[in-house]
Amino acid sequence: MSAMSPAPRRRASLVDSPLLDVEKIRQDFPILRREVRGKPLVYLDSAATSQKPQAVIDALVRYYTTENSNVHRGIHLLSEEATQEYEGARTKVQAFLNASSPQEIVFVRGTTEGINLVAGSYGRQNLREGDEIIISAMEHHSNIVPWQILCQEKGARLRVIPMNDSGELLLEEYERMLGPRTRLVAVVHVSNSLGTINPVEEIIRLAHRQGVPVLIDGAQAAPHLPLDVRKLDCDFYVFSGHKILGPTGIGVLYGKASLLDSMPPYQGGGDMIKSVTFEKTVYNDIPYRFEAGTPHIAGAIGLGAAIDYLSAIGLDRVAAYEHQLLEYGTERLSQIRGLRIIGTAREKAAVLSFVLDGIHPHDIGTVLDSEGIAIRTGHHCTQPVMARFGIPATARASLAFYNTKQEIDVLVRGIDKVFEVFS
Ligand code: PMP
Repeated sequence: MSAMSPAPRRRASLVDSPLLDVEKIRQDFPILRREVRGKPLVYLDSAATSQKPQAVIDALVRYYTTENSNVHRGIHLLSEEATQEYEGARTKVQAFLNASSPQEIVFVRGTTEGINLVAGSYGRQNLREGDEIIISAMEHHSNIVPWQILCQEKGARLRVIPMNDSGELLLEEYERMLGPRTRLVAVVHVSNSLGTINPVEEIIRLAHRQGVPVLIDGAQAAPHLPLDVRKLDCDFYVFSGHKILGPTGIGVLYGKASLLDSMPPYQGGGDMIKSVTFEKTVYNDIPYRFEAGTPHIAGAIGLGAAIDYLSAIGLDRVAAYEHQLLEYGTERLSQIRGLRIIGTAREKAAVLSFVLDGIHPHDIGTVLDSEGIAIRTGHHCTQPVMARFGIPATARASLAFYNTKQEIDVLVRGIDKVFEVFS
């Protein structure tokens, strides 16, 4: 089998988008200047983790160089400055999500911890035997397993919204599932393995009609789409800093103040209390009630810098540019004989998952790596998605606003090479 990948009809230049000055943007990301295996790095794995602009790296260095100190407790200047920066980052996240108040922003380790927090606190408090939680067929394991653990503990039941062959959720089925036993709906905004952008506004509206709260896993949406939690009217929204240009180990749980306020702590320790005696502990107000122990101060500050950087470009422009890239990539990959794109929803973010006839995705990844192209292969922590499509794994190129059409051309040439090697 050989790949048929004709040259693009028009020549793609590095900077051929009036939307963004991508060449200038790329200069902000020092890692994009490095070579991998003697070739210029083509980084197409942003869904796993994004690269970091110099502004974020500088914010981390500045914090550790000039302000390093613990927050909330110190009377000295450094602690005051660190606290100001940490709380300033919370306000930046609030503005980024258009939340009503900084109280609604809880710093966590990432999406995974945010979901576990809601399951362990809200879920534990509100679920009884026979109750139901609705998730979808395209959830990341981190939006499946915490609910399974909770259901097991409570004798509750997990229900799953099915999807069609394009990777779109069947909303009629979802509507039928919603009922008097439903206690929570937890759905991914953008699928990491298929790229589907789910109609979360409609999903939330339908749940609210029944008085059911909704958690949205925004790990893959926050880096790519303008967000407004008040417009969405979601009850919880979670995302990871490292996927939106920030550091690892920091993430955000947004929760409506009324809900967070009604929830018991998730972990106990310093900072989450007002007073402690051996007889009785009084818990702190939100959001501190959910931030036990010394937080990831540098991480929050780095995330704040990432949000500043991204907001200066504008998520509208990011989304529009990435959509152009996705359309170009989809067109080019569709021309390759023996390649099948997995995930062809009408509403998609910049994820190109694919399989090649007779070639294991890991072999695709290895050959592409030898060309300096970083993609991800495997089940992408969505084994049920792989089972739904009857495949063990996919190769996934995931794009960001610092990618170019030229890099997609390099990917296409790399896939040609994969066919050559394995034909
Ligand atoms: N949900 C989705 C949709 C994701 O893509 C990911 C990360 N791949 C997660 C949750 C988990 O994020 P983290 O590992 O940063 O907690």
